[in-house]
Amino acid sequence: MNKQVLTVLGATGSIGLSTLDVVARHPERYEIFALSAHRQVEKLADLCRRFQPQHAVVAGPAEAVILRELLSDFPTLNIMHGPSALEQIAAAPEVTTVMAAIVGAAGLGSSLAAAQAGKRVLLANKEALVMAGDVFIAALRKSSGTLLPIDSEHNAVFQSLPAGFEYGLRQCGVRKVVLTASGGPFRKTPLDALQHVTPDQACAHPNWVMGRKISVDSATMMNKGLEVIEASWIFGVEADRIDVLIHPESVIHSMVQYEDGSVLAELGNPDMRTPIAHALAYPERIASGVASLDLVKIAALSFEAPDFSRFPCLQLAYDALRAGGSAPATLNAANEEAVAAFLDGGLRFDRIAGVVAEALEKIPVTPLSSLDDVLAADRAARAFVQERLSRKLLLSA
Ligand code: NAD
Ligand code: MG
Repeated sequence: MNKQVLTVLGATGSIGLSTLDVVARHPERYEIFALSAHRQVEKLADLCRRFQPQHAVVAGPAEAVILRELLSDFPTLNIMHGPSALEQIAAAPEVTTVMAAIVGAAGLGSSLAAAQAGKRVLLANKEALVMAGDVFIAALRKSSGTLLPIDSEHNAVFQSLPAGFEYGLRQCGVRKVVLTASGGPFRKTPLDALQHVTPDQACAHPNWVMGRKISVDSATMMNKGLEVIEASWIFGVEADRIDVLIHPESVIHSMVQYEDGSVLAELGNPDMRTPIAHALAYPERIASGVASLDLVKIAALSFEAPDFSRFPCLQLAYDALRAGGSAPATLNAANEEAVAAFLDGGLRFDRIAGVVAEALEKIPVTPLSSLDDVLAADRAARAFVQERLSRKLLLSA
């Protein structure tokens, strides 16, 4: 068996660590070529000792110096820094497979570099597709690269579709794609209590352990909104054919409804090592370390319709998808800025949706035909939100 040669972008994060956990179970299958982290240099040093990559990439020169000192006994490791180094380790000719697990727009350049270089792209970085879906999918087509979804919902949909779905879901007899959502920690919180939510409360997800940004997105349900847009790009399906269903147990990871009334789904314990192992080994199956699903113990699964007034971010994402062009990039950038401000104590939790809504309302939608267009839309939305935040123009900010 030829080994897959891997670059793990965002190795020190929640998805990065889960990926390395699966990789460590199968040393005969996978070899680590490069690892990246931003500022968590000590964590990255430990991972470099364990996985012996050829290259490591960190945020800037200061982090590179610290990593070099920490790994003075590992002189063969090439240490680099910055966005172009991330693109380099994503596109290097030796690499077969790239785990794209940097959080937010910061992951776009390297995810796209992997797509352009025709890699097997294991995509966790949903923000890249939300911002630049068209550019990303076109790059994959041109390079004959492969996209394997890591987001548990999209991985479940992928597993529930027949081979050849790329040629159109209608031809496959698909009526609807149904993304499940746990509803996050505030599904039942009284609406007037949401103004007092702290970052730690928002990051305490009932079922999944994740990075802080995606945890806040789950609490506002912007995460599901981003996933609706992500699904539209991965599966070539329009907004009207994507439904969201609240399923608090997170056992059904998503489903596909067919014209004949059949519904196919993927079920499992909520542990990201399952979709990661699926994508790593596809089309084979390998052990992931995840325990078998015990439905007797779980006993009951429940479902409800999403409440769009409790979760306005979900509606905003559908609106942005329908508006097209730069609207999803605006949504994503405004949300990243608003979430960062909330995590820093500079914005109330219940104002995040209002910030994003205002950006979508005030910034005109323009067509996106290149990466430069995407980056310009991203910058414009961030500047808009920053300006409002700095002038405290956001009500109750
Ligand atoms: P995390 O915050 O735990 O980790 C993020 C990683 O990216 C870290 O390694 C960090 O060092 C790196 N990073 C952060 N900012 C960076 C920057 N500016 N430049 C370069 N690197 C940077 O996040 P996570 O929960 O692992 O999520 C990663 C991605 O996967 C996100 O896009 C998220 O939406 C997606 N995702 C996560 C989960 C999950 O269960 N955690 C599930 C589905 C999708
Ligand atoms: Mg998800």
